[in-house]
Amino acid sequence: MSVTQQQVLDSLAKIKSPRGVALTNANVLSAISASDGKVFFSINVDAAEARAWESVRAEAETAVRAIPGVTTAMVALTAERKPGSAPPPPQPSRGTPGVQPAHAHKPPAQGGAQSPMARQSEIPGVAAVIAVASGKGGVGKSTTALNLALGLRDLGLKVGLLDADIYGPSVPRLTGLHEKPELDGERKMIPLRRFGLAIMSIGFLVEEETAMIWRGPMVMSAVTQMLRDVAWGTLDVLVVDMPPGTGDAQLTLAQNVPLKGAVIVSTPQDLSLIDARRGLAMFRKVNVPVLGIVENMSYFQCPHCGTKSDIFGHGGARHEAEKLGVPFLGEIPLHMAIRATSDAGNPVVDSEPDGPHAAIYRAIAGQVRDQLKGVIAAA
Ligand code: ADP
Repeated sequence: MSVTQQQVLDSLAKIKSPRGVALTNANVLSAISASDGKVFFSINVDAAEARAWESVRAEAETAVRAIPGVTTAMVALTAERKPGSAPPPPQPSRGTPGVQPAHAHKPPAQGGAQSPMARQSEIPGVAAVIAVASGKGGVGKSTTALNLALGLRDLGLKVGLLDADIYGPSVPRLTGLHEKPELDGERKMIPLRRFGLAIMSIGFLVEEETAMIWRGPMVMSAVTQMLRDVAWGTLDVLVVDMPPGTGDAQLTLAQNVPLKGAVIVSTPQDLSLIDARRGLAMFRKVNVPVLGIVENMSYFQCPHCGTKSDIFGHGGARHEAEKLGVPFLGEIPLHMAIRATSDAGNPVVDSEPDGPHAAIYRAIAGQVRDQLKGVIAAA
């Protein structure tokens, strides 16, 4: 059963804005995307009124989800400061709930934007949320995130994976999962399960092109909802595959997701290491502990004879980590088996658990687990 934009508008017309105007007449709705039972739109309001709108957003989402034929509804609340208004003060310390800035994709002269749903409160049932980040795309961040999650699983932990790479969600490809998540009795999305992991990706919810055109504040809203409107259950660790880069959208995420730590993935090339350094600086700026650096595609290992060749000049990340005083977590070779298994939806830690690559990922996972031990034990 297909859902039309008009059906969505009809259901929104019954909802009132904080000032008592019908939502459809409040001049706050973005274009409504409704295809294949998936509905997505945003409510764009002034930052000063953002808090009052949060309950309206929730109401709108509930109303849309109740339309017959709707399988997924995501309503983002985006709030922008008026030009000329003062930017919000920088966040003094982690763990402070409240409205956080989201300056994504807006020049400072225009005043940036705020994400009203960006709260740092913990996610009930989840002991530790950690980020896997990289300074740029294509360095193997998502491959590392998934195999690290599997390594943590092999250590006996309950693990989830959230693909927050809104600009190019690759978890559907890496896991072979393409189903849409269902809703539970409380209308929370039930994460998909594969390899013993609870998995959620923006790629399960919207077409790739839709995700690509999202502006920064919408990215933050969508990720916040994937964190909080998903029935994660009890997890020791939730691994978040971050969008690549160190721009405003990433900074906002790093600041607003209640992270217990971050793993930075880099290749040995100089350029990538410069990017990794930016990543480190970004997490330090928002007081997220950097758990360490992983050097991916560290050396080339011939699939036939096993000979190692340092085609990118190996060891750069280890050296860099030492210089910067952060742990070096390990080296992952550039190997056909990692690429082939990854791209076929059978990550190497799961499909070749006794092989050398799985052992490397498990060793990295062990170091991450050790650093999180206190947090996991406390939970
Ligand atoms: P990112 O998330 O940084 O964009 P991906 O994890 O999607 O990167 O990896 C990009 C490509 O590189 C994919 O085709 C993946 O299979 C491949 N890849 C990643 N790590 C390795 C590795 N260590 N050896 C071989 N191929 C790899």
